[in-house]
Amino acid sequence: MSLSMCQQTPFFLHNPQSGKVHCRQPPKEKVVVVLGATGTGKSRLSIDIATLFPAEVVNSDKMQVYEGLDITTNKITQEECCGVPHHLIGEIDPIMDFTATNFCNMASLAIKSVVNNRRLPIIVGGSNSFIEALIDDKDNDKFRSKYECCFLWVDVSMPMLDSCLSDRVDRMVERGMVDEVRKMFRLNANYSRGIRRAIGVPELDRYYRAESSSDDKTRARILEEAINMIKFNTSKLACRQMEKIYRLRDVKGWKMHRIDATDVFRRRGREADKAWENLVVGPSAMIVSRFLYN
Ligand code: ATP
Repeated sequence: MSLSMCQQTPFFLHNPQSGKVHCRQPPKEKVVVVLGATGTGKSRLSIDIATLFPAEVVNSDKMQVYEGLDITTNKITQEECCGVPHHLIGEIDPIMDFTATNFCNMASLAIKSVVNNRRLPIIVGGSNSFIEALIDDKDNDKFRSKYECCFLWVDVSMPMLDSCLSDRVDRMVERGMVDEVRKMFRLNANYSRGIRRAIGVPELDRYYRAESSSDDKTRARILEEAINMIKFNTSKLACRQMEKIYRLRDVKGWKMHRIDATDVFRRRGREADKAWENLVVGPSAMIVSRFLYN
């Protein structure tokens, strides 16, 4: 399936009474935006959509834009990408401050290049302030005048998400998060800049300081406290992201398609995969198909 040709073709209207030909506004290009708190499965859904419709992903997670800390920021792996091109992921110098304006400029270019490739741009990531700055720009609704958006919101009930996020942090630690973050450790580092703001970096600072001076038992206790703090801050991030999504829907009036994925997270293994297909991929594919071809 390719995106309709008419999206690229200028439209002309002939008025038989005046004999004049009017140039009509070309139809808008289409963009899918996947919203959701951290850990809800946004990246997985974006890949599933991109395997059904020719698409490319534009990342909108403000920490995943930086190079490095792949485990800690939970970046999608090469294998998980399944060959779907990704933009704005791991591209930015980790000590630079990547602002909403930087994001708007770079995401706009990426979206344009995806459209020029005749593919569907899928904007995916948890940084709702970046997404809002891009879509509801103060520059005369420039984005909305060019692009028609379809918002998919992957929602998972907070108690369920909370326990899954705690397990996710444990898995990150098993995969090597502590060694990964150690490479970022500097005495008196500034944790309000660049990638050092990522959850995991400030929390582990005390542990690295204690490494050379404390006994095994003390170090183990400090590490456990740091991991608990990472879990707490990840859960807080998810709550804040949900509040921002409610605000975009209820105050800003964004028309969102809410996909409830809570049941998927109640299951394990093949049962969970089946539920994901039925409850998330199926309904999302229908919504995107209607958005693109109706
Ligand atoms: P805010 O206005 O609070 O920055 P936002 O919507 O712009 O919110 P969020 O994506 O909610 O941005 O990120 C807020 C903070 O959460 C980041 O500054 C960072 O500390 C942490 N954070 C966000 N995404 C990640 C991530 N992928 N990995 C680690 N930490 C993250």
